[in-house]
Amino acid sequence: MSLIERDSKVIWHPYTQMKNALPHIPIVRGEGVYVFDENGRRYIDAISSWWVNIHGHAHPYIAEQVSAQLKVLEHVIFAGFTHEPAIRLAERLLPLLPGKQAKVFYTDNGSTAVEVALKMCLQYWDNRAKPKTKILAFKNAYHGDTFGAMSVSGRSIFTNAFNDLLFDVEFIDLPNQDNIERLKAQILKLKSELACFIFEPLILGSGGMLMYEATYLDELLAVCKEVEVLTIADEVMTGFGRTGTYFACEKLENKPDIFCLSKGLTGGTMPLGITTCTNEIFEAFLSDDKLKTLYHGHSFTANPIACVASLASLDILLQSETLQNIKRIEARHAGFLKEIKTHPKIKTSRQTGTILAIEWVTVGETSYLSNLRNILYTYFLDKGIILRPLGNIIYILPPYVISDEDLDYVYDAIRSALDEI
Ligand SMILES: *Cc1c(COP(=O)(O)O)cnc(C)c1O
Repeated sequence: MSLIERDSKVIWHPYTQMKNALPHIPIVRGEGVYVFDENGRRYIDAISSWWVNIHGHAHPYIAEQVSAQLKVLEHVIFAGFTHEPAIRLAERLLPLLPGKQAKVFYTDNGSTAVEVALKMCLQYWDNRAKPKTKILAFKNAYHGDTFGAMSVSGRSIFTNAFNDLLFDVEFIDLPNQDNIERLKAQILKLKSELACFIFEPLILGSGGMLMYEATYLDELLAVCKEVEVLTIADEVMTGFGRTGTYFACEKLENKPDIFCLSKGLTGGTMPLGITTCTNEIFEAFLSDDKLKTLYHGHSFTANPIACVASLASLDILLQSETLQNIKRIEARHAGFLKEIKTHPKIKTSRQTGTILAIEWVTVGETSYLSNLRNILYTYFLDKGIILRPLGNIIYILPPYVISDEDLDYVYDAIRSALDEI
């Protein structure tokens, strides 16, 4: 039996209607920006395997560090015990984050990093005997697939079956020049109930790569600070260079109280999540009263292998060559965008850092369920490129090691898709 047949017998894939799913392509090997299927066919991973792989596949340096750690300590319970890789990663990461981040809390993916952030905020107010329970979020936000993370995400086809069970959240539009004063007034009106504001800085990923300006986010954060609403930057997608700076929040004057990190954290090697917070938040949990403890933890909290992968990934990220690559991709995206912007098949197009998004003209509304999605997906796959459209929106979000040649190949494929589809 082929791998495809065996897969279809026993596997249920994520975000996939299994009834009429396209065959799942067995991948046997990765190298740099490429993955290879069992027939040796090569694909350019232009979306960094769901946005996690920032330095390319099977990076030899990360592999070497991880493999050395495997022979020393694969895992140990993280309550009552600690280890060098977790401490070292926290020591290195905290000073890199914008603002005064003081403590690292480990989990194992982006959704749980968000859950912890929400719990930190809600319990912060509870511990201080000033219970505030409302949360503010953006309408098209995506913060993950667990129930708390779904609750603070925009209501969409992803949450449809669960909407009645999700807790109430105050949703606001993305800020712009025209609505910023109204949004600020909305926050002021709710100030006594609002525990926190959670946001994806500069770009809403799964919501359709929707981009907005740092200045308006900054204004929202300023109001939140003024009226004691805690702020959570969900940098699960934007972290580690994606938007052109190490973290998207570097572009803000007002710094958030909490950061959520995952995806690029381990260079795409291992699952790991991190929630960081300021000392002020941490101190609200220090007490002789045991009820003020943050009762949260996962079996694989601070897995040493994942921490070592993150340390290795950080080493690579901080090399000047990586920053040059990020700047190079940014500049080339900008050039390509300028060229195709006015194409009649393009409804809107935009760019933040290394992310370029193009919204295809459709007959109906822009939607995740657009029929164009499978047509575009297959078109690029046939050309050996993994681009996984969000409905009629295609985006390039490549590993930073992608060469000019491969970028050109992807741009060329988009050009021909614009002419042919
Ligand atoms: C992907 C994502 C998450 C969820 O992370 P998982 O590791 O998939 O659970 C949360 N927030 C943002 C902004 C994301 O892009």
